[in-house]
Amino acid sequence: MTDLESKLTAEIANLLDDKKVDVFIAFKKAESPLHPQPAFFTESNQLGDFVYNSLCQNNLAAFIPRYPLSARIGMVVRGCENRAVNHLVVEKQHARENIFMIGVPCEGLVDWHKLVNRFGEEMIAVDEAKDEIMISYRDRQIRAPRQELLHDSCLRCVHPNPLSADVTIGELKPEGDPTLARTEVAAFSALDNAARHAWFRKEAERCIRCYACREACPMCYCTECFVDHGVPRWTESTVSPAGMRAWHIVRAFHQAGRCVSCGACERACPMDIKMTYLTEKLNEDMRTKYQFECGMDDKTQPPFAAFNLDDKNRFEL
Ligand code: SF4
Ligand code: SF4
Ligand code: SF4
Repeated sequence: MTDLESKLTAEIANLLDDKKVDVFIAFKKAESPLHPQPAFFTESNQLGDFVYNSLCQNNLAAFIPRYPLSARIGMVVRGCENRAVNHLVVEKQHARENIFMIGVPCEGLVDWHKLVNRFGEEMIAVDEAKDEIMISYRDRQIRAPRQELLHDSCLRCVHPNPLSADVTIGELKPEGDPTLARTEVAAFSALDNAARHAWFRKEAERCIRCYACREACPMCYCTECFVDHGVPRWTESTVSPAGMRAWHIVRAFHQAGRCVSCGACERACPMDIKMTYLTEKLNEDMRTKYQFECGMDDKTQPPFAAFNLDDKNRFEL
């Protein structure tokens, strides 16, 4: 157990023993070191399997809307998860006073797709030091620079630190460079229409409509998603190219002003489909056109959700 894991375990055990939370959402070890599983601890004696490392891929805020508003929930949060919690509070998916956040300044997540593509799946353990990832096989160990294995969302992350956690463990990290996120958006925007369309089709049409991206996203909490509606039917539910394109476009647009750039959707995708280039474009538009960034506090509505009944102005861009 790492020093961070020991400190987290002690903090979580106190919260559970003192009955300050009904459930603590974190991670536990799984059969494969690549995929620690979300875990829902209700007693401190369940914490033997607790794990917290750079392979904990889920954004745990996705589980908050599944609990009744009265549930007192504890969570470990990185920067993006804290912002997701904030935004769920804005959308009234839970009461802030019923959420206890233990914040951890974030080193970035190792992308399991990159790890497997480069080293194969047969690893028996993955350990990490500050700048290196050690991958163990039965007969050998490989070391790789952490930076080369980070998920793309983490490479361009601007806010790695928790913003409003109740307790923070670890030293704060320097803020990221926002121009990095903008570089990719600018490069994509600079392509001509045909090249952008070709890129979009190449990504969208590999989709198998498993909806793992939807399940992973903290902002996809509707009881019935538009793709599951029978009457009216908004889009084809088959894996036809047209249906897949419609799914990707509408999913992205539902995130306008609501995406915290966590990358959980991409990491969940079994087809390794890049979809955050669409949401990052919307995030960039929100920043430049409306000076809004999702989840920076737990009170401000995103521009497309905010309205004022007394507003007599015309809608203008
Ligand atoms: S985007 Fe990545 S680096 Fe940034 S806080 Fe989230 S997990 Fe950490
Ligand atoms: S759309 Fe993807 S990157 Fe944005 S909040 Fe949802 S899971 Fe995170
Ligand atoms: S997780 Fe990937 S394959 Fe599954 S629906 Fe989303 S984009 Fe398609």
